[in-house]
Amino acid sequence: MPRQRRLRKVVAPPKFKGFKPYGTSNSSATAIELLYEEYEALKLADYDMMNHKEASELMNVSRATFARIYESARRKMAQALVETREIKTVYGNAEMDESWHLCNDCHARFTMPESAKKDTCALCSSTNIESLKTTN
Ligand SMILES: [Zn+2]
Repeated sequence: MPRQRRLRKVVAPPKFKGFKPYGTSNSSATAIELLYEEYEALKLADYDMMNHKEASELMNVSRATFARIYESARRKMAQALVETREIKTVYGNAEMDESWHLCNDCHARFTMPESAKKDTCALCSSTNIESLKTTN
């Protein structure tokens, strides 16, 4: 029986597409893919200093699932540091209340109601925008 994947609530997408190490010769290593929900778990537990119970409720997952996501996030961050690999954020199983978009010109991240159906950046009016839901 395939396990049903429940979506994990993420308040906002990461404010970056990725991180690159510098001062290293290991530039050919493949990037580590950090899922949005892993970023969120790390943020809630280690940045917002929430306990796992609060954090799991916020993300709408069980404590066991939260612990697993959090462990995976920490493992990936450690791997990225030790192996000097790039970090790339990818959508994963995240669920966001609002539809987030990224402007490829001014790099703003902004929300847009589904009903708006506009395809321009809220800040610079560029049409070079992408949805953060479907792309990496
Ligand atoms: Zn813009």
